[in-house]
Amino acid sequence: MKINKEILSLPPYISTAWENIVSLFTQANNLIVILKNGSKIAIPNLDSDILETIFSTHIKVLEKRIEPKTSISFGLPSLNNNMGLGSDNLENFAGAMQHNPEQKNAPNIPNEILNKIANITKLFSEEANIDIPEPEPDCNCMHCQIAKAMQIAKGINPENLDAVVADEDLKFRLWDIHEEGKELYSVTNPLDQNEHYSVFLGKPLGCTCGKKSCEHIKAVLNS
Ligand SMILES: [Zn+2]
Ligand SMILES: [Zn+2]
Repeated sequence: MKINKEILSLPPYISTAWENIVSLFTQANNLIVILKNGSKIAIPNLDSDILETIFSTHIKVLEKRIEPKTSISFGLPSLNNNMGLGSDNLENFAGAMQHNPEQKNAPNIPNEILNKIANITKLFSEEANIDIPEPEPDCNCMHCQIAKAMQIAKGINPENLDAVVADEDLKFRLWDIHEEGKELYSVTNPLDQNEHYSVFLGKPLGCTCGKKSCEHIKAVLNS
C-alpha cells in the first residue's frame, strides 16, 4: 500500500497515479474510485485512518492542480519582435501603447527592459524625429513607464519639466513693459535701453520688431 501525492496504491484493488483518478467517495463500506477512463473501482473495508489519508492526499493533489500557473505578463506585446529593428518600430511601439489610468499602480517594468528601451531611444532619437509620448505625472502604467524611460534617454527628464517652465517665465521678465496707450505697450530690454519695441495688442496685433509672434508680444501677454 502506498499513498502519496503522486500515487494511490491499494493492492490488490488499484494502483495508479492520481492524475488518472477523477473522484473518490464512499458508499456503504466501500471506497469508490472513479477513473478517467470511466471505470469504477470499489475497495471494501478500509480502516478509517487509511480513508482519511486517502481523502486528505486527494485534496492536496487537487489543490496543486487548481493552483493558477504564475505567469508574469507585463502587457508588452511581442516586445522582442518589435524592438531592435529600427526607429519606425520604436515609434509604433510607443504609439501603440496608451496611457491607462487603471494601471497607474502597475508593477515596475524590469530595469533591463527599460534600459533596452532607453538604449534604442538614444540610438534612434538623433537620426529620426521620434515623437516621444508624454508620461502622465504620478502614473506607473506601462505607457507612462516606457514614455518616462524614453524621455530620460532623450535627455528630457520629466522631473525637471517644472524647472524648464520656470526658465521660460524668467525669460519673459527680462523685458520692462510699460503701458503707453490703449493696447499699446513699450517693451524695453532692462540690460540695454536701446533695445526697445512697441507692441500693439489691438487689431492688427503687432510688434515693431516686425515678427508676427515674437517674444515681445508674448512678454506683454504674460505680463
Ligand atoms: Zn499612464
Ligand atoms: Zn517683437
